[in-house]
Amino acid sequence: MTETESTERGATVPDFQNPVAGFGVTFKAMFKKRLTEQYPEEKKPTAPRFHGRHQLNRHPDGLEKCIGCELCAWACPADAIYVEGADNTDEERYSPGERYGRVYQINYLRCILCGLCVEACPTRALTMTNEYELADRSRESLIYTKEELLAGLTETMVDTPHAIFPGMTEKDYYNGLVTGAAPGTVRQAAVSQGERPEDEGVSA
Ligand code: SF4
Ligand code: SF4
Repeated sequence: MTETESTERGATVPDFQNPVAGFGVTFKAMFKKRLTEQYPEEKKPTAPRFHGRHQLNRHPDGLEKCIGCELCAWACPADAIYVEGADNTDEERYSPGERYGRVYQINYLRCILCGLCVEACPTRALTMTNEYELADRSRESLIYTKEELLAGLTETMVDTPHAIFPGMTEKDYYNGLVTGAAPGTVRQAAVSQGERPEDEGVSA
């Protein structure tokens, strides 16, 4: 047995003090500010620019900003995004312009939340939220579909598909001239998804 032993700070203490010196660390820790977080009961807000789950945004009248261009998918270093574009028609319109994102998926088993896809998007259709709870039990549930990623509706919006605001062009939408759905706007039938015009809740 040595006569002295090293303490936490590198100093030495006589042998007879060792049993007490060990408790000194514990004693000091008792009066320090606690760092334990009571997650998930108490969730602390993230930093405002935290990179969390993505969101596909809408124009103020509810039409979708995504034009199905696939630039986000090409920019993704993890190959986590799958997009299929399609043409809008006057009878079934999802975005103000010619094309929309018919299929949109993000695979959160691959995504590293780097945000490069957001940078690549020319229409600001794709942004990231602060949501970080992305764990689940199956592979399928971590591949988020367009329906899961699409932003919710506000009071000024009508769900897609629906007609473009009368008299407005695609450019007007991006210039912020459309601030809400035109009076009388109703949801059209999503014929490409198997809906029929006579189904409840859709217009012909
Ligand atoms: S955040 Fe990065 S890894 Fe995730 S989908 Fe976008 S580009 Fe891909
Ligand atoms: S989210 Fe943006 S970049 Fe990706 S397909 Fe839609 S418009 Fe293009």
